[in-house]
Amino acid sequence: MNIPLVDLHEQYISIKKEIDRAMSDVINQTAFIGGPFHKSFEKSFADFCGVQFCVGVGNGTDALYIALRAMGIGPGDEVITSANSFIATSEAIRMAGADVVFIDIDPGTYNIDTAKIEEKITKRTKAIIPVHLYGQPADMDPILSIAKKYNLKILEDAAQAHGAEYRGQKIGSIGDAACFSFYPGKNLGAYGDGGAIVSNDSTFAETARMISNHGRIDKYDHKFEGINSRLDGIQAAILDVKLKYLPEWTELRRKNASLYNRLLKGIPLRSPEEIPDIKAVYHLYVIRVSEKREELQKYLKSNGVSTGIHYPIALPNLKAYDYLKKNDNDFNEATKASKEILSLPMYAELTENQISYITDKIKMFFS
Ligand SMILES: *Cc1c(COP(=O)(O)O)cnc(C)c1O
Repeated sequence: MNIPLVDLHEQYISIKKEIDRAMSDVINQTAFIGGPFHKSFEKSFADFCGVQFCVGVGNGTDALYIALRAMGIGPGDEVITSANSFIATSEAIRMAGADVVFIDIDPGTYNIDTAKIEEKITKRTKAIIPVHLYGQPADMDPILSIAKKYNLKILEDAAQAHGAEYRGQKIGSIGDAACFSFYPGKNLGAYGDGGAIVSNDSTFAETARMISNHGRIDKYDHKFEGINSRLDGIQAAILDVKLKYLPEWTELRRKNASLYNRLLKGIPLRSPEEIPDIKAVYHLYVIRVSEKREELQKYLKSNGVSTGIHYPIALPNLKAYDYLKKNDNDFNEATKASKEILSLPMYAELTENQISYITDKIKMFFS
């Protein structure tokens, strides 16, 4: 049996007619940049997130950069984020001209350890970017109270968490703003690059839109210099089709995760943990093994099962962050996790048969 980490083709086949029609509609109406498809998706996605405003942009990295700029964050400012994420999170902080301050993770959820945030706050700290990694909501209540106490902005990196919920609230509607990626492999994926910024703040949303569109509202009336980062009409039309199916796909991912949890019981590894009263959307299903990770990965590969590591080097340990002054123990948990985590195949179309095949192989490896 051959099981990929994620299967994008299977999903396309299941909605091919609608997708193909949506794409040809955009082409027939030459609504390539801006236009009705773009507008329609922004409205649908804002509703989906339970917020008032959505600005479609070129990708998730730009979304973070644009949002930080629209919050007025720039040179001289510090932005706090998690030591365990994709580099886009910290890259965006630097793109905005601010300094990155990493915080170690909670070893149970792999998300930012909220108990370690306050000690890193200085006079220059302006914002916190919690990352809802793997589709697991970060613990937002402590983050909200810290932000209130020190007057900081909260920008959610929700690139892996479309549709997730924290204590009854949709991810994306909790902080001052949130950023999403529609990279093809994300839970809501385009057929190319795409991203969005959502918020309930109209001034912020308007500024973000201007930054994404050369600092203008009208064609040649540029109020300041921005960038070119817009969501294509074709991507917007595809996303609008796929958004209708997302709740269904999310439930399937959750069902797959609980089947994995059940079948992996009794094996010496750690299954993902959910904090109380949240809904995780399992962008990734990440297990943790205390030893022999590489061997397990190889064994699964030789049995046709693809796996991944998200991420093999914790952000502060990357060469790109050599310039930061660090103490050896600052990122113990993130460093330890990076050596033990393993992402198993996860997508809505994964079958019960495939999951029990995978867990059987894992059982065999450990026996
Ligand atoms: C994918 C991702 C991004 C960046 O999104 P792109 O659309 O690839 O630019 C940012 N943060 C996290 C956590 C991501 O997974």
